[in-house]
Amino acid sequence: MNFLRFDDGGVPRYGRLDGEMVAPLEAAPWEGGEEAGRPLPYAGLTLLPPVPPGGKVLCIGRNYLAHAKELGNEVPAEPLVFLKPSTSLLAHGGTVVLPPESERVDFEGELALVIGRRARRVGREAFADVVFGITPALDISARDLQKKDGQWWRAKGFDTFCPCGPVVATGVDASDLGLRTILDGAVKQDGRTSRMIFDLPALVSWVSQAMTLEPGDLLLTGTPEGVGPLAPGQILELEIEGLPRLSVRVEKEV
Ligand code: MG
Repeated sequence: MNFLRFDDGGVPRYGRLDGEMVAPLEAAPWEGGEEAGRPLPYAGLTLLPPVPPGGKVLCIGRNYLAHAKELGNEVPAEPLVFLKPSTSLLAHGGTVVLPPESERVDFEGELALVIGRRARRVGREAFADVVFGITPALDISARDLQKKDGQWWRAKGFDTFCPCGPVVATGVDASDLGLRTILDGAVKQDGRTSRMIFDLPALVSWVSQAMTLEPGDLLLTGTPEGVGPLAPGQILELEIEGLPRLSVRVEKEV
């Protein structure tokens, strides 16, 4: 099933996408939210990021061999983890804003896991219980600041630097899905999730050793090779096999 979040006259609501229509839910789907109210046409909705603000956005760096090499990095011996603030979340159809502090902002297309259940120090066998679903996500990265700052809080953390959605899909085996990043209609990244260095159950287990995972948290799982720079006016899209395409615009901050 495909779930989303939308603005209902100033009130955020969850819904289940069914063809061209959305059935509103009374609570988040990972909290067991039941359908309530009249179905609404998908085309008329103002979408929100599919997870609520305030949760964690955990990210894995250098989790595909060819991507680690293209940036001249070693393959990590353990998963390389960092966080983006939830203020970086951006809905499908939104605009990635290029900040004046950076001269090189890259796209990174990634599969993201949506956590559905609280988890602390779980093993890889807990994966199916802990993960609610998957969503496409872009780890927008100010590459020059990433090198300069040391800490990645700013390079990865500007507002709008984590587009995701439009939906969270459940019941999908994410272990070998195609992932394509498309810039102005040209395919820039074309990878498969099966090529990760650390697989999805390993990542969930690893991050849960350090911090409690909570429902609505996101875990971006790394990007394949082919990353590159963004420019104002471009359309950036991410397609994960079997899911609706994530699409955002790119503009300079004014
Ligand atoms: Mg990344």
